[in-house]
Amino acid sequence: MEKPQTYAVLGAGPVGYVLSISLALRGYNVELFEKRSDPLTTQQSDEWRSTNFLLFQRAFPAFRKIGVLDEVLQFSAKMDKLKIILKDLDEFELNYKGKSQETFAYSMNRKEIQKILAKRIKDFPENIKVNYNTSISNVKIDQSSFDVKHSDGRVETKSGYDMIFGTDGIHSVVKEAFFSIPGFSYLREYNGYGYTELQIPAFEAAEGNQFRVQEKTFFHWPRKEVDTHMWGMPNYDGNINIGLILKITGEYSFEYFKSSGFEVFQKFMFEQFPETRYLMPNMKDLYEKCQLTRIASMKCGPWRYGNFQLIGDSAHCQNPFGALGFNGHMEECSLIADLLDKHESNWNQISDEFYAIRKPISDKMNEYGEAQFSLMKYKLFDEQIQIMIFFKLHFNQSDFMIQISYNA
Ligand SMILES: Cc1cc2nc3c(=O)[nH]c(=O)nc-3n(C[C@H](O)[C@H](O)[C@H](O)COP(=O)(O)OP(=O)(O)OC[C@H]3O[C@@H](n4cnc5c(N)ncnc54)[C@H](O)[C@@H]3O)c2cc1C
Repeated sequence: MEKPQTYAVLGAGPVGYVLSISLALRGYNVELFEKRSDPLTTQQSDEWRSTNFLLFQRAFPAFRKIGVLDEVLQFSAKMDKLKIILKDLDEFELNYKGKSQETFAYSMNRKEIQKILAKRIKDFPENIKVNYNTSISNVKIDQSSFDVKHSDGRVETKSGYDMIFGTDGIHSVVKEAFFSIPGFSYLREYNGYGYTELQIPAFEAAEGNQFRVQEKTFFHWPRKEVDTHMWGMPNYDGNINIGLILKITGEYSFEYFKSSGFEVFQKFMFEQFPETRYLMPNMKDLYEKCQLTRIASMKCGPWRYGNFQLIGDSAHCQNPFGALGFNGHMEECSLIADLLDKHESNWNQISDEFYAIRKPISDKMNEYGEAQFSLMKYKLFDEQIQIMIFFKLHFNQSDFMIQISYNA
């Protein structure tokens, strides 16, 4: 009998989890390593620097294939309206859906996805060994090895896996090991902006949590004069997750507000977004907790060397304004599952086909994310016609998605 393949998956973000489950479902053994703690038992350290995921239909096959789609939808909030609120409180409201019911967008908190996947992975105790609080370093491509630092400080060198997947995000240590390989190309760009997470908390009523603002709505508050943009996405529990875009440095920047203190920040918020006066009763607390994530895009290639394979943000990462990053990664996980069925454990064929299909698409997604960011920042302000352009591009994304989808 042929020995079952054993794989190492380095990083338990959404991609690492989904990939591990896909492999286990096909009978392979997986060792999953994650530097953070178990999201089911502790709060992870990325609180207040994330924003919700905008989920589109293209993410669904991956969830369906690993048996979590119903739960994902149960903990998501459907959005069927887009509301743009200008500074003088003029509002524009548009229907927010694609050509069919199927192309509604959903909003989902990153923490909830992590929890659903962390729970699902426990259904495979025979096949998946999860190691939380273990940090990977010292990746050696030529020796197919890497070091694992355990929470007690012990360092262990691991090797002997049939394949090793770098699912360790944009700052991937696996990808760093690729830098020394001739022919590897890499481009990472920061655009000088970042986003931080705030919240409009649910109104707690006797009959259950109520939204403080209109339900099922994707809110946008563009503010060109101060180079800022705020958006709001609903959660299933009545909270609205807020993303606030700020410059990294300079006037009205994250650095400026953090160093000038809460009063300066609150004054700015009340001036620019007057509704926050009553919608964010917890602003001081949020100000103290909030952290900035820099907006970055990154592309590289090839994604495979030796028996190391990059997947997810470690392979390519988009400006989140295209709303394609997470959705695109889930589509890639679905493709990997299909390729595993097609080529079984022949990773030479799987990697080649995966790269040939997804590299051009991911490069296109990078361009689209940047274009979308400019559109939102510079065009989404004054005139309804510009809003319509934005709407057409962003919310008819299903059309765009179909064009670049691997199975179109
Ligand atoms: C904190 C955070 C917030 C984000 N917020 C948003 C958002 O609001 N909207 C959006 O569209 N996208 C966001 N993203 C990006 C989005 O999550 C990714 O595009 C998507 O999740 C792809 O996931 P991934 O699994 O490839 O990478 P990630 O989600 O980045 O997961 C990588 C995992 O690898 C782990 N890891 C990294 N280095 C090591 C190491 N040396 N050893 C062990 N483990 C390691 C990390 O802890 C992490 O759990 C965010 C990413 C992060 C990390």
